[in-house]
Amino acid sequence: MIDVIVAGGGPTGMMLASELRLHGVQALVLEKDAEPTPVVRSLGLHARSIEVMDQRGLLDRFLALGKQYPVGGFFAGIAKPSPERLDTAHAYVLGILQTVTDRLLTEHAIEVGAEVRRGCELVGLSQDDYGVTAELADGTQLRSRYLVGCDGGRSTVRKVLGVGFPGESSTVDTLLGEMVVAADPETVNAVNAEVRKTQLRFGAMPLGDGVYRVGVPAEGVAEDRSVSPSFEEFKRQLQVTAGTDLGVHSPRWLSRFGNATRQAERYRTGRVLLAGDAAHVHPPMGGQGLNLGIQDAFNLGWKLAAEVNGWAPEGLLDSYHTERHPVAADVLDNTRAQMELTSLEPGPQAVRRLVSQLMDFEDVNRYLTEKIIAIGIRYDFGEGHELLGKRLRDIALKQGRLYELMHSGRGLLLDQTGQLSVADWADRIDHVVDTSKDLEAPAVLLRPDGHVAWAGENQADLLGQIQRWFGAPAN
Ligand SMILES: Cc1cc2nc3c(=O)[nH]c(=O)nc-3n(C[C@H](O)[C@H](O)[C@H](O)COP(=O)(O)OP(=O)(O)OC[C@H]3O[C@@H](n4cnc5c(N)ncnc54)[C@H](O)[C@@H]3O)c2cc1C
Repeated sequence: MIDVIVAGGGPTGMMLASELRLHGVQALVLEKDAEPTPVVRSLGLHARSIEVMDQRGLLDRFLALGKQYPVGGFFAGIAKPSPERLDTAHAYVLGILQTVTDRLLTEHAIEVGAEVRRGCELVGLSQDDYGVTAELADGTQLRSRYLVGCDGGRSTVRKVLGVGFPGESSTVDTLLGEMVVAADPETVNAVNAEVRKTQLRFGAMPLGDGVYRVGVPAEGVAEDRSVSPSFEEFKRQLQVTAGTDLGVHSPRWLSRFGNATRQAERYRTGRVLLAGDAAHVHPPMGGQGLNLGIQDAFNLGWKLAAEVNGWAPEGLLDSYHTERHPVAADVLDNTRAQMELTSLEPGPQAVRRLVSQLMDFEDVNRYLTEKIIAIGIRYDFGEGHELLGKRLRDIALKQGRLYELMHSGRGLLLDQTGQLSVADWADRIDHVVDTSKDLEAPAVLLRPDGHVAWAGENQADLLGQIQRWFGAPAN
């Protein structure tokens, strides 16, 4: 019996496997592709994902291979300066190709002991009171206590479960690829500027050495987007859209994506859960999908581990849906709004001008920016301290930085009073007595995902909340 099977070895699956391993839970990742894909979808990490990497001691690896850019300009592509005083120690966008992110997350998952089986497609599953039986394409059957579908937008797991995926179908497809462009850079710039006046899905972004990332509207909507377009089709669409194929040749890869907006009705069905694109799809406006998937995994990992390790309090695993479903619903909505704002129709264009004017107000700019970079999320833990449910930004302590103390993935009582105790949960929670001028509470209890489970100074009050997240005392 395997503890957890993770179906799908994309960024969500690898992040989840690593989180499970932090708690000693066995994680088997099944990935259908025999080799990592060369297709580059995401181009970067936003602040909350950067924080997540910092909380697990992975940030240096990402910083070494990425480039930092100012935050801003990503809400519907409306260019504005970075909002001031963003509530994060990482107020930048980290430009890093998804192929690199995927590789770093995979390497880390393997380092911490996850097993990754490539060329292994899950084709079916069933579950009973004790576990899940996964069926692989080669006829093998595997048995696990839990299974998580991190198998992307066309998720087999979601379909086999019969979980509804309501929303809107794709209305347009876009072709995307990397290729050599023979036309000189001035010509490419001029074509870009001219075509984008009327066609925002067109774009040619230089990657160096004459290679460009080129996007162009497709003809119609494909039945099966997993089939790459041919290079002939790509060149034909370039001609149709730009009036030139820019002399493109030597494609490195070609792909196709749509603009469907859909969300799984439920993230948990018994012992099977959904995370990442398997649970939600939306257009890539603002660059949020991969970030959202990583943050799903960060929310789910410790809860599922607690379930496997036998100390999860009632309702902990269900709180994954309760907390993360509304977050993705909000992302779907902001991408819908952004899509409207990129329409060239007169009405949406007028609304775009209005939103642009509103974004000159610092608070509006910050509000929209924080939506995308996901640092403003507050889970609903009920009434209480103003920090309750929020994630805490990294702060300086006398003995170092807060995020440095979170690498183990355990809970953390950060105690400025020195009067509190979590001794009966010492196997799950670290107790750090320290002070910080940046901590606006006498003490905070942080969950493994950095969200504030309790804030205050009273031991009885702390004991009243602790079991909700960390279960019964060990002794
Ligand atoms: C053009 C484009 C640009 C984007 N830009 C950004 C961006 O800038 N920022 C951002 O945050 N997001 C961006 N995204 C979205 C991002 O790429 C996805 O949200 C992200 O890859 C989702 O990660 P995932 O692990 O959930 O799913 P995936 O990355 O799709 O991984 C799923 C994995 O499961 C495997 N799999 C599928 N079926 C099975 C099966 N039956 N058995 C076993 N394995 C299976 C697949 O081979 C795949 O490896 C972009 C998307 C597109 C299309």
